[in-house]
Amino acid sequence: MFSHSSPEMNQDSKASAIGSFLNIRISNPMDWRPIDRFILLACLVILAPLSFGSTMWIANTQVPEWLNQPLVSFLTVLYIGHIAVMVGFILAALKLRRYTDDWPLFENVIIASFLIVVLTTGYLTGTYLSEALLIIFLGVIITCTLADVNKIQFCFWIVVPLLGGMSALDLMQILPHAMLLEKSPVADNGRPFDGWMAIRMTVAFILAPLIYLCILAMKRWAERENLYLEMSTIDGLTRLSNRNSLITRGQEEIRRARAADSTTLPPLACIMIDLDHFKQINDTWGHHAGDEVLVAASKVMMENARPNDEVGRYGGEEFAVLLPGTTLVQAKLIAERLRKRISHMAVEVDGQKIEVTASLGVACYPSPGVEAMSDLLKTADKALYEAKETGRNKVVSA
Ligand code: GH3
Ligand code: MG
Ligand code: MG
Repeated sequence: MFSHSSPEMNQDSKASAIGSFLNIRISNPMDWRPIDRFILLACLVILAPLSFGSTMWIANTQVPEWLNQPLVSFLTVLYIGHIAVMVGFILAALKLRRYTDDWPLFENVIIASFLIVVLTTGYLTGTYLSEALLIIFLGVIITCTLADVNKIQFCFWIVVPLLGGMSALDLMQILPHAMLLEKSPVADNGRPFDGWMAIRMTVAFILAPLIYLCILAMKRWAERENLYLEMSTIDGLTRLSNRNSLITRGQEEIRRARAADSTTLPPLACIMIDLDHFKQINDTWGHHAGDEVLVAASKVMMENARPNDEVGRYGGEEFAVLLPGTTLVQAKLIAERLRKRISHMAVEVDGQKIEVTASLGVACYPSPGVEAMSDLLKTADKALYEAKETGRNKVVSA
C-alpha cells in the first residue's frame, strides 16, 4: 500500500505519533507507522458509539416512551463496551509503540468492532440502508488509507450479505422494523418528528469532518500517484522524459502509425544526441559544472522541439528526440539546427564560460531494417557513432 514509506518518512513518522502529543509535530498520518495509524483510527472509530450513544441517551431522557427500553440497555452496554475496548487498546498501543511498528490484532478489532456497532445500530433504528451504509462507506475510505486495504475488501464480502439478510428480515416481517423505536419517528403527514430530525442532523454533522478527512486522504492518494508517475517517467536532473518513457512513447507512435495506414506509414524520426568530450568538462570544471551543461543542453533541446516531439535523456550525456510525422530529410534539418544551437550556447558556471558541442545521428521509421522502436534507436545510434568517428560536432543520417 502507498502508506509504506521511505526511511526518511519512517523517521518522520516516529516523531509524529499522536502518542507524543506533548512534543507534537504532526505529519501526514499516511506516513506514520502502522501502530500510530491504528491509534488514530481507533480515536476516530470511538466517534461512532459516542455519537450514537449520546443521541440515544438524550432521546431517552426526553421521550423514553419512544424507545424500546431493553434495547436501550443492550445498546448502552454495546456502546460503553466498544468505547472501553477501544480505549483499552489505545492505551496498550501507546505503550507497545515503543517496541513494535505493527499490531494486526488491534487493526482487526478496530475494523470488526466498528462494523458490529454501526450495523447493529443501523438495523435497530431501520437506517441500515441509509445512514449506516453512509457511515460504513466513509469508514471504508478512511480505513483504506490508515489500515490494510485487503482487510477492508474482505469485510465487504461479510457486510453485503449481512445487509441482504437484514433487508430480507424486514421484507418478510420476521422481526419488527426499527426495533429500537417503539413508535414511528414519522408523523401521519409523513414529516419526521423534530427529535428524529435532530438525531439524524447530529449524525450528519458528525459525519461532515469525516467526509473532509476522506477528501484529505484522497488528495494525498492522488498526490502520491502523481509523484510516483513523475518519478518513473521524468529524469530528475534535466526534467526530460527518461529512457523508459521515451521508448514507450516511440513504441506507441509506431503502433499508431501502423494502425493509421498499412500502405504508406506516417514517419517517425529519431535524433540521437551525444555531447562531445563531456568527460573533459567534468574533469576540468567539476561534476556540478557538467550537470549545469546537461541542464542547459536539455533546455536548448526542449526549446527546439515542437509540441508533439518527445525529448528524452537516453543515458548520461546522451539524449534522443522523437519526431512524429517527420521524414529523414526534415529531421536532418532539425538536427542541424539543434547542433548549431548547442554549439552556440555558452554555459556560465562559477564565472567561467563553458562551451560544448554535440554529435547527432538521425534515423527514420519506416526505412530498410527499421521496423520497430529498437531498430530505430539502434540505427540512430549507429549514425551517431559515425558522427563521432568522423570528427564530432556534426550530424549524420542513416
Ligand atoms: P565522446 O565525445 O566520445 O562522447 O566523449 P565523452 O567524454 O562525452 O564520453 P564518455 O562516454 O567518455 O564520457 C561521458 C561522461 O559523462 C562520463 C560520465 O562521468 C559523464 N556523465 C554521465 N552522466 C552524468 C551526469 O549526470 N552528470 C555529470 N556531470 N556527468 C555525467
Ligand atoms: Mg559524449
Ligand atoms: Mg556517451
